[in-house]
Amino acid sequence: MLNSHITHQLIDRFGRKVDYLRISITDRCDFRCVYCMSEEMTFLPREHVLSLEELYFIAQAFAELGVKKIRVTGGEPLVRRGALELLQNIGRIDSLHELVLTTNGSQLERMALPLKKTGVKRINISLDTLDAGKFKAITRTGDLQQVLRGIDAARNAGFERIKINSVILKDKNHLEVVSLLQFAVDKGIDISFIEEMPLGMVSQHDRSSSYYSSDCIKADLAAHFSLIASTEKTGGPSVYYKVQGTQIRVGFISPHSANFCGSCNRVRLTVEGQLLLCLGNEHSVDLKQVIRSYPGDMDILKQAIVDAMLIKPEKHEFNIHEQPVILRHMSVTGG
Ligand code: SAM
Ligand code: SF4
Repeated sequence: MLNSHITHQLIDRFGRKVDYLRISITDRCDFRCVYCMSEEMTFLPREHVLSLEELYFIAQAFAELGVKKIRVTGGEPLVRRGALELLQNIGRIDSLHELVLTTNGSQLERMALPLKKTGVKRINISLDTLDAGKFKAITRTGDLQQVLRGIDAARNAGFERIKINSVILKDKNHLEVVSLLQFAVDKGIDISFIEEMPLGMVSQHDRSSSYYSSDCIKADLAAHFSLIASTEKTGGPSVYYKVQGTQIRVGFISPHSANFCGSCNRVRLTVEGQLLLCLGNEHSVDLKQVIRSYPGDMDILKQAIVDAMLIKPEKHEFNIHEQPVILRHMSVTGG
């Protein structure tokens, strides 16, 4: 039996309430972004990957434990066969307030409308540059025009909110922050600038020399836009500003320069069924083993999730000057 006072809430040892789950539904991707993957990747064999039914079952368990928001991510979530059906099923879970998606945009031209119909209300689309050559250099395989058409398709499909995510790397795209924000303003969508995190070994660049802080980005933007600090709290790591004279929000995600762990409300599920308690630590619980040992037993699964809260670490310690302690790539973690 589950302990009744914790049945409907997930609270960790530091009193933080966990009500947000990010699920990586595939480790595969059609891009090979330099900060996320190696050029040559070995992807998981099928039997190691949770089925769509298993993913849905775990999502249900979390919803019963008080999780209100689920983000589906990857790898590239929209390349997994059956992704739309899964999203539709998760979207129908009554107690869930928000189902959102992070995508690289490559499939949106044809999938934006069906995606909107699944009940996903808000999407994040990754875009680090508006220069086709640089886009190819950063994603290794991506086509900028395809993603730009995807962004327009998403705007036409009528999502409640679209946000661009831009990882900023010194000497790769840091000179583009002003044009990226201008792009967001022109398209009427939000944007967040992200400091690179040292997840997984990357071959192509040295992370300490590519570090470009949120403060530098803010200073670059301030020369062209008036940014007004917003008091809005989303419970996430982003600190938001409004661009004066517009409705556009600019977020800054600063894992190095501003530690956001004190208000952490989230955990992550990898497509292998590992429940990761912290982005920057290895603490995890194998939920695949639980559901494959006790198929269909919701109580046992929920108890395992409740127990997992006891090992959620207090905070991450990223150090870009050392080799990464966290060997999994963001594509496995579910960014
Ligand atoms: N494929 C989808 C996409 O690119 O939006 C979803 C998964 S991707 C791992 C999610 C987000 O993580 C993207 O915005 C990506 O730019 C970001 N990301 C990947 N590796 C990162 C790293 N090492 N540091 C910071 N952000 C990273
Ligand atoms: Fe793929 Fe997203 Fe990682 Fe780029 S950031 S390689 S698009 S999973």
